[in-house]
Amino acid sequence: MIRKVKGTRDILPPETRLWNEVERTALRVFEGFGYSEIRLPLLEPTELFVRTVGEGTDIVSKEMYTFADRKGRSLTLRPEGTASVARAFIENGLGQRPQPLRLSYFGPMFRYERMQRGRYRQFSQIGIEVLGAATPAADVEVIVALHTFLAELGFDNLIIVLNNLGDPEDRERFIAGLKTELTPHREELCGDCQRRWDENPLRILDCKVPRCRELVAETTPVADVVSEDARHHVAAVEDALDAVSIPVRRAPRLVRGLDYYLRTVFEVISPELGEDTVICGGGRYDRLISDLGGAAVPGVGFAIGEDRLIEVLPQSFKDRAFDERVVTVLPLGDGSVAPATALARDLVRAGATVHTEVTGRSLKAGLKWSGKMNSSVAVILGEQELAEGAALIRDLRRGEQEKAALDRVVGRVVELLRVEE
Ligand code: ATP
Ligand code: MG
Repeated sequence: MIRKVKGTRDILPPETRLWNEVERTALRVFEGFGYSEIRLPLLEPTELFVRTVGEGTDIVSKEMYTFADRKGRSLTLRPEGTASVARAFIENGLGQRPQPLRLSYFGPMFRYERMQRGRYRQFSQIGIEVLGAATPAADVEVIVALHTFLAELGFDNLIIVLNNLGDPEDRERFIAGLKTELTPHREELCGDCQRRWDENPLRILDCKVPRCRELVAETTPVADVVSEDARHHVAAVEDALDAVSIPVRRAPRLVRGLDYYLRTVFEVISPELGEDTVICGGGRYDRLISDLGGAAVPGVGFAIGEDRLIEVLPQSFKDRAFDERVVTVLPLGDGSVAPATALARDLVRAGATVHTEVTGRSLKAGLKWSGKMNSSVAVILGEQELAEGAALIRDLRRGEQEKAALDRVVGRVVELLRVEE
């Protein structure tokens, strides 16, 4: 037997209904806020991620699916979406369009990671980006859109945490100070942090090893050393969110795993999954497009981990997603196939979910199958009724049955389904 690649998943029905409903809700809410979907390749030149996400990051240093194609070009299965959005912005001259540009995307990402709950090698993200707006108002908007989306899904227990990373110049200063403060304890840091010391010192801040955490807790928070401008920017974001009653908690040690973020960074945490399995990460990235050779176009956005989101969906959302009104159509004997097909089509057009019996079951077996399909109503097309231009409609919930003329069947079934609700 051939098995799936480690870290990938088969998402089976009926669970796929949850995915569809989450994606539909995302499209609806984000479209409502003015975001249009952009569809980007899964394959990109490796250099794109090296130059944006950053060489010293976990993603680029050890998590990318990188390979040479038949002509020896180095390609990478995208590990995230923002870098591709930035590339597409430059390549398609999207700066010519009215700014800011509001974009949304969703789809699979690939990272070579250790498998565990909520951590896969192929996973899906849903994200939005605002390009061409440097104001705190843009940060506020993406967080409000995020909050609205999560509320539409029925979440009321998720926590938004936020920090101020300052500008890249601030960060240089912060890292120098951090190293000075940690130097006396350098030997006590874990092996990973020893490596991060030179490669990506900011990541020492979110090491999970208890002793590293203790040492980090003694250091000066990054927000304390940022410029006046950056301080005002993030304070304005917090004030505006407070004014619309969106609770946001300061997380002074929060840093993100990608190099391009500056000023506002945020995450969404679920009490069920805990702090190490965040649902969503985002932030501002004003230098990303210029670093890639484009104009100085500021941006802000986030990416939600759809797999993790689905693991903690509220029951109310699941009930809604799984709620359906199924009709079965049971053709019995020769001559019933054509009318059954036509009837099924008309029921679908009227909005019902229809399962037509196509394996040749008897009436008794067909009704049993209808039960297994969770059907509310069965339409039975027997030879005798068909000869009269009629069909039997069986209300499976109440166990009642009636005869109806063929041209009245759809109307009557729709009525019965409505009573069910
Ligand atoms: P983590 O700290 O959990 O590794 P990250 O900082 O690498 O997350 P981002 O690059 O910010 O994650 O991606 C945004 C979101 O995508 C994450 O908050 C998470 O919900 C989801 N995500 C990231 N990696 C994975 C994965 N391997 N499997 C499932 N979801 C993931
Ligand atoms: Mg990661």
